[in-house]
Amino acid sequence: MQVTKVPRASDAATQARMNSQLRQNTKCELLVRRLLHREGLRYRIDCRPDVTLNRRADIVFTKARVAVFIDGCFWHRCPIHWRPPKRNAGWWTNKADSVARRDAETTASLNAAGWHVIRVWEHEDPGTAARAISLAVRGWGCAQR
Ligand SMILES: [Zn+2]
Repeated sequence: MQVTKVPRASDAATQARMNSQLRQNTKCELLVRRLLHREGLRYRIDCRPDVTLNRRADIVFTKARVAVFIDGCFWHRCPIHWRPPKRNAGWWTNKADSVARRDAETTASLNAAGWHVIRVWEHEDPGTAARAISLAVRGWGCAQR
């Protein structure tokens, strides 16, 4: 994720909220990974599924061609939880829009390259997410595109 242009949080509350969002997302990803590992699935972490596309996925199953993204509710504009911080609301709205656009482009490009893309919101149940990922990796419910 590009974070180079993110302005410093203008107040302690915003900073605390950003930190807690990052922690929450990491927690979700770790839980999903642990469940997948327990099922005997092996994967690569935080890498480019397709070398021709300059996009990284959080969990990648190279052989099965499944790319998993664990999307933070704040950074990726979750339709349920996303609210712009009060300060710099316009900047954050533009930022969230561009991240959402980029996410959609990434999914479309990977699909076009023959990848099955699974996007998980950090608020989703890790067990449910892990089951869906496992099914896709094992080739069930993975419609040929
Ligand atoms: Zn959410």
